[in-house]
Amino acid sequence: VFANIPQGPEDPILGVTVAYNKDPSPIKLNLGVGAYRTEEGKPLVLDVVRRAEQIILNDRSRVKEYLPITGLPDFNKFSAKLIFGNDSPAIQENRIVTVQCLSGTGSLRVGAEFLARHYHERTIYIPQPTWGNHPKVFTIAGLSVKYYRYYDPTTRGLDFQGLLEDLRSAPSGAIVLLHACAHNPTGVDPTLEQWEQIRQLMRSRGLLPFFDSAYQGFASGNLDADAQSVRIFVADGGECFAAQSYAKNMGLYGERVGALSIVCKSTDVASRVESQLKLVIRPMYSNPPIHGASIVATILKDRNMFSEWTVELKAMADRIISMRQQLFDALRARGTPGDWSHIIKQIGMFTFTGLNTEQVKFMTKEYHIYMTSDGRISMAGLSSRTVPHLADAIHAAVTR
Ligand code: PMP
Repeated sequence: VFANIPQGPEDPILGVTVAYNKDPSPIKLNLGVGAYRTEEGKPLVLDVVRRAEQIILNDRSRVKEYLPITGLPDFNKFSAKLIFGNDSPAIQENRIVTVQCLSGTGSLRVGAEFLARHYHERTIYIPQPTWGNHPKVFTIAGLSVKYYRYYDPTTRGLDFQGLLEDLRSAPSGAIVLLHACAHNPTGVDPTLEQWEQIRQLMRSRGLLPFFDSAYQGFASGNLDADAQSVRIFVADGGECFAAQSYAKNMGLYGERVGALSIVCKSTDVASRVESQLKLVIRPMYSNPPIHGASIVATILKDRNMFSEWTVELKAMADRIISMRQQLFDALRARGTPGDWSHIIKQIGMFTFTGLNTEQVKFMTKEYHIYMTSDGRISMAGLSSRTVPHLADAIHAAVTR
């Protein structure tokens, strides 16, 4: 019956790794993956995560029963504290509902499904450009996706005026997707003053903020600093959505641990919203997996383990920042034409190099360096050993 089924296209981001795996060259370099690598190029399991797993393993009272539809209660409670702040009034007023979901993507999807069913406005504005999965997640949930201007290729920075204009002309009530920090793929974030202006504009136009927080702590190494954007929106008492992922900041990629929070105006509304979230989740996957959420809860609720985590998190963030500096220095040393200061100015895991599709193709063909065709490179995939190879490739690509 499926004899005529057409071949589906490879995912543009995950497809980079597929191509990389096929390349037999010993000098090949994969800068496409959005996952942290050590200086030796290896995936990293945090020590604190191993310790939490040991604790879980040794605790014979832990069983493998189903979690509630909304997930592990402690995980939800501490996840809300992590993003909204320990002393968030919205938490104290009991008007946030948090549900454990399948990492960041699953949290976005559950939020999108909920909005499609219960919110009066179906249009969501997402930044141009954004993570490639965003338009797909929201479209498939039944929302209508539009873009707001975000990145200015000439300055390789934020197109703040364009962003404000587009949000100003969005229909009242429209949903707006915001990257909480470390915007993917550009690495360009608004300043705090700009966030405040965005907040004022959005609240005055009745636009609904939906934060995607996939990199808390990964951008600056400081968990609170990276959540400021979200917190200024919550502080004004208005509604707000937030999707959290523990893929990057705890290195729990394949465990699929994340949370969706919806900040409501009252406890009563929050509890009705929660009842509807259950109706969204139950027919999708019934309830979420237990292991990853138990790791996160174990770490978040123990003061020592929490601080151990922040040290390891900072070390990852610092290594990425150091890779930015090393790549920038290497291009300067080669006299590569162009202003490469955006490499050190951009934030988070990725650098939006400004290299075009042709240059990317050239670097893959001649230097066996793999990245997405928009010129985005993962700084986490670089090491002191591989920086010179990348700098040579960029130099050759731009002077060709
Ligand atoms: N949002 C953004 C902006 C991302 O970059 C990612 C990961 N690449 C995600 C969400 C979701 O990741 P996950 O589902 O693995 O948590």
